[in-house]
Amino acid sequence: MFSPQIIENLDNYQCCYNHNKPIRSVCIEPHYPSNKRFYCEECFKAITIEVLQAKQNKQLKMS
Ligand SMILES: [Zn+2]
Repeated sequence: MFSPQIIENLDNYQCCYNHNKPIRSVCIEPHYPSNKRFYCEECFKAITIEVLQAKQNKQLKMS
């Protein structure tokens, strides 16, 4: 039986890059491993850079 988990205190959780910063966001994608679900503001910066680099790589390959 499915029992939803209620996260009462996000400060107890570490973000996926171990930045030791307050958690800002939780990914609810069911296939994500639990240690990759938490994101702090530093994670957002890192992810944004990753996405931009991936887009640039794609454009380079296509051209
Ligand atoms: Zn982080």
